[in-house]
Formats: sequence, C-alpha cells, structure tokens
Amino acid sequence: MHVHVVGNACVDTTFRLGRFPSAGETLNAVASADGLGGKGANQAVAAARTGAAVTLWTALGKDPAGAWIRNCLDMELSDVQVNEFDLPSDRSTIVIDAGGENFIVSGVACSEAFDPIAQTALARRIAPGDILVMQGNLRGSATNACLRAAQEKGARTVLNASPVDAAAPPNFGLAEVLVVNQSEAKALTDRSDMAAAADALAAKGAGTIVITLGADGCLVLGPDQAGSLRLPAPHVEALDTSGAGDVFCGCLAGGFAKEMSVTSALKFALAAAAIAVTRSGTLLSCPSASEMAALID
Ligand code: ATP
Repeated sequence: MHVHVVGNACVDTTFRLGRFPSAGETLNAVASADGLGGKGANQAVAAARTGAAVTLWTALGKDPAGAWIRNCLDMELSDVQVNEFDLPSDRSTIVIDAGGENFIVSGVACSEAFDPIAQTALARRIAPGDILVMQGNLRGSATNACLRAAQEKGARTVLNASPVDAAAPPNFGLAEVLVVNQSEAKALTDRSDMAAAADALAAKGAGTIVITLGADGCLVLGPDQAGSLRLPAPHVEALDTSGAGDVFCGCLAGGFAKEMSVTSALKFALAAAAIAVTRSGTLLSCPSASEMAALID
C-alpha cells in the first residue's frame, strides 16, 4: 500500500540565545542552524523510514530556499512531487532562550497557495487501499478536496489536524483516522477531559479518534468502541519532544501500509515516538530505517 503525504516542507532556522530580545533590540545568537522542517516533510520521512513506499506532495517557491529544501527532501525520499510557485518558500524562524522557551514565526505563502488536487497529479495517483496523510498547514478547502478525492478512490485517510484551526477546521467526516494532541483536542471541543473530547470529535464525524498524550501515550476511540481506550507510551528519559507527534503520525501511516491493525500501528507509533523524544532535534530525532525495522520485527 502506498503512502501519500500531502503537506508543507520548509526551512527551519533555529537561533539559540541567552535571552529573548526586547522590542527594537538586536542580539547575536549563541548558535544558529538551518534544517529541513514542515509537518508534511517530517511525516513523509518518518513514514518512509518504516519501509513504506511514500510520495510527498508539497509546494515550494522558485527561490534558493526551495532548491535547498528540494535537495534535502531528495536525500530522504524517493518520490517528491513539487508544485512550484513564484512565491517565497515557506520558512520558520525558531528562537530558543537559555531556559528552553521558544517562539516561532512562520512564512507560509506556498502552503496557502497550494491546491494539491488542482495543481498536481495527486488525484490520478491515489489508488484503492493507499493511505493519504494530511496535516493542518494547508487551507481547509484544499485539505478537504484531497481527503474527498482519496475517499472516492477507496483510499484510507489520516488527518493530523495540527496546527489546529478551530474556527475553520477541515471536514472531520472525511478522516478515517483523526490525530490531535491534547491542546488541539481541547481547542476543537472545549473539553479538558480527553475521553469527553474524543467523544465530541467522534460526533463531528471522524472515524477513529487518536489523541496523543505525551509521556502518557495516546487515547483511541474507534467507530465500534463503546468508550475510549488508553495505550501507554514506553517509559523513557525524554530529552526533546519536538517532532514526536510527526514521528507518531508517519509511523501510524507506515503501520497501515504494512497492513497492521489500528491498535498494532498505534503501538508501533508509540514505540517509535518514544525513541524520538530521547534525542534532540525534530527530523534529526526520527528513528532510522534500521531502528524502525527492529521495532516491527
Ligand atoms: P510535538 O512535541 O511533536 O509537538 P505533540 O504535542 O503533537 O508533539 P505529544 O502528545 O506531546 O504530541 O507527543 C506525541 C507522541 O510522542 C505521544 O503520543 C507519545 O507517543 C510520544 N511522546 C511524547 N512525549 C513522550 C515521553 N515523554 N515519553 C514517551 N513518549 C512520548
């Protein structure tokens, strides 16, 4: 089964500072680095490292940053379908202070312009049984169009509604599996109790609801379940949890591609994400292909 990940890819520029600057102040960073980022790219790489056949469908600007992102993607993925725009490529600036607090500012022109169904061969390529994975970075209407096209082809749909747009979320009725973290679940349902939030998300039409619970693993509510179940995460010493949610989603899709049940795929995703949190970095922390293979055996 082929995994199609449709989503953003960007340059993440990280600055580490002793303290945040005040308004109008210029500070020299202690360290700075560029890295490949974007939830679409992260999830596609994680899915590919599970051994699944993966295509990433993304949007880049016709600029040096776009060429750089493309080069990074080509080192990780065997099939990258890019829609190019006369716009600046997406980028995020991540500023981290000595205490580990951060703020992030993103330029998202390409994600906002991207209409995968109109601008790429995605609709033609999706086949029955394939898995479409999407996140919350594209316009809701573009996300819905992709999910609908996948459903019409008999493909499976995984929607990670992150970042969350509580005012205009995608149509959850088009998601066979909806994945959100606790703050997203709360923003979408106004419920602090995660079992109640899962019920409320099910009422919005999603098939299986998965709420990730950080070190506590995840909660799952399937369409045939009377109540939600909790699956624990392996106990590890967490160093940096950034990107754990993307590893989780990519591995869930990879598990589906290997025809695992929902529960087995979730357990695999929990094991892979637990490895990711023991390392620093976003993509850098994603388990390698051999580590993924060891988890599956
Ligand atoms: P991210 O940090 O990528 O934004 P998130 O906020 O979207 O993550 P979380 O629920 O924090 O989502 O984490 C996603 C998954 O990562 C969890 O379901 C779990 O499997 C794993 N995870 C996160 N933190 C830990 C931890 N401390 N120990 C083990 N696993 C963890």
